[in-house]
Amino acid sequence: MLEDKNQERTALEEMGEFALIDHLTQNFPVSRESTLKAIGDDAAVLDFKDKKTIVTTDMLVEGVHFDLSYMPLKHLGYKAVMANLSDVYAMNATATQIAVSVAVSNRFPLEALEEFYAGIALACQIFKVDLIGGDTTSSTTGMLISITALGEAQEDDIVYRSGAKPNDLLVVSGDLGGAYMGLQVLEREKEVFKVNPNSQPDLSPYSYIVERQLKPEARKDIVELFKKLEVRPTAMIDISDGLSSEILHLCKNSEVGCNLFEEKIPLDPTVITACEEFKIDSTLVALSGGEDYELLCTIDQKDFDKIKGNPNLSIIGHMTDNAEGAHMVTRANAKIPLKAQGWTSFDASSQ
Ligand SMILES: [Mg+2]
Repeated sequence: MLEDKNQERTALEEMGEFALIDHLTQNFPVSRESTLKAIGDDAAVLDFKDKKTIVTTDMLVEGVHFDLSYMPLKHLGYKAVMANLSDVYAMNATATQIAVSVAVSNRFPLEALEEFYAGIALACQIFKVDLIGGDTTSSTTGMLISITALGEAQEDDIVYRSGAKPNDLLVVSGDLGGAYMGLQVLEREKEVFKVNPNSQPDLSPYSYIVERQLKPEARKDIVELFKKLEVRPTAMIDISDGLSSEILHLCKNSEVGCNLFEEKIPLDPTVITACEEFKIDSTLVALSGGEDYELLCTIDQKDFDKIKGNPNLSIIGHMTDNAEGAHMVTRANAKIPLKAQGWTSFDASSQ
């Protein structure tokens, strides 16, 4: 429904592979001191000096992870980079470089790849990361994207999933559930469009949640905030799959339990309104929705004064002894076990 039917189409076969890569990567200046050689040789050369190197990689498949009928390619490029940078920030590290590989079928003209790379370039510019390599190839079915992100950190600054202790505060950045509800709105409009291709959806009441789905922002600012506040989280993870599953990762890796308080889960008013409209429980959306790319961490109680009242951070619970298990305390003061398997099973267990 967002497709421009009149756009120019230059077949990729008209360009050689090397000309294509040169063309797509021409607007990527190098900005990092650690990038000694980016694109243009057999391999990139990096120098992190006395710092540790952080590496993460992620693959996205059309039809599984994204739907191009409502995901503009520029947004897709931006979001694919965000998903990777978010993992670097979740280590309390600075993201520095990315390598991008993409495979497309012959239904994608040059102009489509230009759009995709424009989104990547925007992400690189805003988050100050260098594109240092990658590959472009053909696929028989749709689009595949693989991005590797690198980062750097002093060894003592790196935060793992395994450092949480009983009584640590459970803290989350931003608000949750927006990306999932944005997806619900876009899916609904897609169905309307199938029936009536002339329909012009008015998405303005949903702009916040649609943006959360189409153009998420990795929380580089939160890593910088912690540095400024002189707070080093004891454990951290980014929220790509939903709050519930990420809490359970922290619990498992740290060998602790957790009490999450339902009433403390941060929700934007737009999410609450959309949940009412779609008749979905907003807590379940936050617990199981995913793709919010917020940071979830545990913080020692001694740092409470440094973070309290900060508008970017919500204290949503605390860690306990492992034997106590991981629970959510509901608004009605019932204690129910946290489950990671999405809402159907969670729903059944909470009856
Ligand atoms: Mg992650």
